[in-house]
Amino acid sequence: MGKVLIIGAGGVGTVVVHKVAQNPDVFTEIMLASRTKSKCDAIAADVQKRYGVEVKTAKVDADNVPELVILLNDYKPELVINVALPYQDLTIMDACLEAGVNYMDTANYEPKDEAHFEYSWQWAYKDKFEKAGLTAILGCGFDPGVTSIYTAYAAKHHFDEIHYLDIVDCNAGDHHKAFATNFNPEINIREVSQRGKYWENGEWVETDPHQIHMPLNYPEIGPKESYVIYHEELESLVKNFPTIKRARFWMTFGQEYLTHLRVIQNIGMARIDEVEYNGVKIVPIQFLKAVLPNPGDLGENYTGWTSIGCRIKGIKDGVEKTYYVYNNCSHEAAYKETGTQGVSYTTGVPAMIGAMMFMKGLWRKPGVYNVEEFNSDPFMEQLNIHGLPWVELHDVDLEL
Ligand code: NDP
Repeated sequence: MGKVLIIGAGGVGTVVVHKVAQNPDVFTEIMLASRTKSKCDAIAADVQKRYGVEVKTAKVDADNVPELVILLNDYKPELVINVALPYQDLTIMDACLEAGVNYMDTANYEPKDEAHFEYSWQWAYKDKFEKAGLTAILGCGFDPGVTSIYTAYAAKHHFDEIHYLDIVDCNAGDHHKAFATNFNPEINIREVSQRGKYWENGEWVETDPHQIHMPLNYPEIGPKESYVIYHEELESLVKNFPTIKRARFWMTFGQEYLTHLRVIQNIGMARIDEVEYNGVKIVPIQFLKAVLPNPGDLGENYTGWTSIGCRIKGIKDGVEKTYYVYNNCSHEAAYKETGTQGVSYTTGVPAMIGAMMFMKGLWRKPGVYNVEEFNSDPFMEQLNIHGLPWVELHDVDLEL
């Protein structure tokens, strides 16, 4: 049905390549391009061995628009799946516009020199994509991504008005390392060490980092201390579902993780500005990434589960109701299938499904859209088929 170019050969990119290769009726030609071509070649060789599917590979610097345009004009994909880093979102969108290619990603743009992310930079491309007749699908991982689709599905089928939304993200897995991040360390540390923020009564409420926390019970897992942090899907969800009175995002962290994080910050290793070391300019957080475990390699010894879902309260037919929709994903099962851990898996599978929605013409409209603006039904159906089945609980105690 379609020709796809995946950019980024990290943990998430690995899963995306496996999943598109598992669906040859939809993805007829596949290319994986990234900064380090040897990583693309290794993934392509594994996929060839497992499924007998050919994946072409290429080297590209996704910070460089002309280089991207040459690759796009040469390969001529219908869709680019951007699973490089959030820093590359705008250059890849620019290249897509120039070469006439549709676009999808899993994380919103973040400038390298400022630990700050918001959708305004990418939403500003709406007119350009509309005029070019091209679709851009933003935030199609798990969170953002599936959490946004869960909310859209709940709004469509279970509520007349959603009033309270709590997205709960638990990683109850154990990678058996003293400290490691589950996705790109630089992006992860920037995200979790920022000030907390949530939506209440029409405005953003800011908190100190990790100020609000409480134990929440996760299905099949039990109680885990959960912390309110700011997460990007809150921005688009409160805009697209204006009946929401309060929207928060909770993430679990272990004490060991938080202690390491505090030390990293206190000793200046989370700094994103340049420092001079032995006559060379280095950015401490980038150096830290080089010595931390590679998230893509954590899978082998990872045990346990992730559990991510939406706890929603609102009104249906004049009656107050609660609804909890979630997925539990096993790190071991993810590793067995794709050679990566559960966090890469839960991001890569929705990216493939979003691409499938596009290829099938179900999510295709010129402009720039967050995933909750598309029809959630066919996407929810595919989650059950491709490894991220979901469970619904009605009128239960949400704890929140
Ligand atoms: P990794 O760091 O493992 O992989 C990133 C890949 O992008 C690497 O292969 C890297 O190349 C490549 N890359 C980086 N810069 C460039 C560049 N300038 N040009 C070309 N390639 C480049 O990250 P993850 O796989 O963990 O994460 C990928 C994306 O997924 C991130 O944007 C992350 O924020 C997002 N994400 C989204 C989630 C969600 O649920 N929505 C959850 C988790 C992650 P090299 O190998 O040379 O370093």
